[in-house]
Amino acid sequence: MTTVEFRDVSKKFADGTIALNNFCLQVNDGELVVLVGPSGCGKSTTLRLLAGLEDISSGEILIDGQVVNLVTPQKRNIAMVFQNYALYPHMSVRANLEFPLKMVRTPKDQMSKKVAEIADILKLQKLLNRRPAELSGGQRQRVAMGRALVRNPSVFLLDEPLSNLDAKLRARIRAEISELQKRLQKTTLYVTHDQVEAMTLGDRVAVIESGKLHQVGTPTELYQQPRSIFVAKFIGSPGMNVFPATLRLKDDGQEQLQAGDLVIPLPEKLSRQNLQVNGNIYVGIRPEAITAEPSDKSLPYRVHVNATEFLGHETLVYFQFSDNRDVSPLIARLPGKFSDTDSMTNLYFVPESLHLYNEDGSALV
Ligand code: ATP
Repeated sequence: MTTVEFRDVSKKFADGTIALNNFCLQVNDGELVVLVGPSGCGKSTTLRLLAGLEDISSGEILIDGQVVNLVTPQKRNIAMVFQNYALYPHMSVRANLEFPLKMVRTPKDQMSKKVAEIADILKLQKLLNRRPAELSGGQRQRVAMGRALVRNPSVFLLDEPLSNLDAKLRARIRAEISELQKRLQKTTLYVTHDQVEAMTLGDRVAVIESGKLHQVGTPTELYQQPRSIFVAKFIGSPGMNVFPATLRLKDDGQEQLQAGDLVIPLPEKLSRQNLQVNGNIYVGIRPEAITAEPSDKSLPYRVHVNATEFLGHETLVYFQFSDNRDVSPLIARLPGKFSDTDSMTNLYFVPESLHLYNEDGSALV
């Protein structure tokens, strides 16, 4: 049973860089939480603070409810897998797996048993006598995982463990990690900048930008209810389209969103909200919420198609609303082939599928 908690943790490096700013996160026992965000947002620093490899500047880190700010890395019983695996090149796979056990003076018979167990779990039995240079990238990755897990740590940290692998292998090892983590039920923090990896692996996902936690939630919550424009754009492939608009009140009292000449009736779910008339807001719409065919509650919009990208099963359509070329191009994800480039056409969406954000980027509802 291991839980982890960051309470208002900040990290300021000696040169003044603030890598983490009042960071709060609770990780439940056996849970896999993915930290995701752009390069330099503070993901690796968060893991290093938890492992005790860096001191925190303020706040508290708790493991199983105990503050560990002053506990040495050795005593935290945390194992970490790094992006470059850091395997010992001159040692065999067996010796690499034995290394952490030797460090804590494990008796030889126990060590053999544990190495055999972990080799079995990670399908490394036939590779035990090879050196890292004689392994494929995926196999090296598994040895690095094995070396981290062999001491049965209470918390398992993975820092971009798949970034050295090609896309196909990444998808396969991702599935292996997910299966392994579910089987071993280890409390795990996993760092990636890849939102697909985050969404497919995480029980929950924490989205970080510039040392600040934007939102933590299940993949479904992050996709369906992004609490900020940053999360809306970061999650999804491509991310959400977002453009500025103003809330207007028609003579008959009807509320509508206006972006240039483009007018969209205010979604019902928002109509009783206390929105400021004539106030500036941002409107968001997922590329997959836009369709080429009308549906029950959708409204048609005349658009100009600037370009298309055919991906086989779908087409990414870059378009602008015809009556408002001021709004920068948006993207629609349409099934199958769509090749009407440089032409006017109708696209459709349901106003209820819109997301609205304040000027400061926070969600309106
Ligand atoms: P990446 O995905 O590129 O690995 P990251 O999200 O893991 O990035 P961190 O490595 O945690 O980011 O770095 C967060 C910020 O802290 C960056 O601006 C980085 O330059 C800075 N930083 C990291 N280590 C140090 C250090 N020892 N001294 C000063 N600044 C540092």
